[in-house]
Amino acid sequence: MNSSGARVTLTDTYGRTVRSLRMSITNRCNLNCIYCHNEGDPGSVREMSVETIVSIVRAAADLGVDRLKISGGEPLLRKDLEDILTELPPLRDVSLTTNAILLKERALSLKEAGLDRVNVSLDTLDPAKFRMITNCKKDILGKVLAGIEEAVRVGLTPVKVNMVLLKDLNENEIEEMLAFTKQFNGNVILQLIELMDFKDVADLHVNADEVEGALLARSTDVKVRQMHHRKKYIINGAEVEFVRPVDNTEFCANCNRLRVTADGKLKPCLLANDNLVDVSNASPEELPALLQLAVSRRVPFYTGRRDQNGSRTDS
Ligand code: SAM
Repeated sequence: MNSSGARVTLTDTYGRTVRSLRMSITNRCNLNCIYCHNEGDPGSVREMSVETIVSIVRAAADLGVDRLKISGGEPLLRKDLEDILTELPPLRDVSLTTNAILLKERALSLKEAGLDRVNVSLDTLDPAKFRMITNCKKDILGKVLAGIEEAVRVGLTPVKVNMVLLKDLNENEIEEMLAFTKQFNGNVILQLIELMDFKDVADLHVNADEVEGALLARSTDVKVRQMHHRKKYIINGAEVEFVRPVDNTEFCANCNRLRVTADGKLKPCLLANDNLVDVSNASPEELPALLQLAVSRRVPFYTGRRDQNGSRTDS
């Protein structure tokens, strides 16, 4: 609250109020996906202590943040994830994005520690393609599928299956993936993700207009989510969400998220690295002002500005 009793929020100069933290808790990973953006935070292994993580989330919650997405690297590589979850302040939604290799063994303890739901990255149901995309020689697709089943069983739902669309690799598997998610009777939702070119993978980019057009043509209903104004399509009773971040001014205009890197830097945008705010050693008293500083540095990456030749000038 400020001196006049009004609730202080994290609102940027574009009028966007931050309600959601996306926090990387490690940049270690047990896979090496061909396209991975590492949450915009590659490099050597870095991790914050449980205390640092919790104090950042507490300060953000005091400023109106009510959603937390835990990411990585692979967050399940941290054995103290349950400790982190137990210490968090009350939030409306605490979720985790994982490759699910270690999920079967952890799902119940994560649920008991306060996790609400999981997103599972799964680009293909074909074992050979899975090995190729993840750069993993072992046959571990079965572990991922078992992780999803266990997450549903213990109620980490809705489980969202994150499928990054990859040209000539999985673009023709949407139907199969929909059938896979549908068998869980609404507890598993397919989330298609447009590829962002972080690792020279432009050749794998799939035309998002075509995919979205096909989804629209087959859907019986379309809903729009608050977060990034993402669209959800209802197809044969199953829900499909399409995340289109690339060159999408609407996505940026409706972004209500602040990122935190594995080494404790507030990151206003996945696509920018020149505006980070270091909070790794900040005291609880210092954190509110540092959060406000990071939010004041939030600038929509895609603004739709073009030069006289029609080329984009906003990146
Ligand atoms: N290891 C965890 C996992 O597999 O979910 C968390 C980290 S991973 C970076 C988080 C999400 O980012 C995954 O769903 C992944 O598919 C997505 N992702 C990674 N690189 C991407 C890219 N270049 N374009 C779009 N999505 C990407």
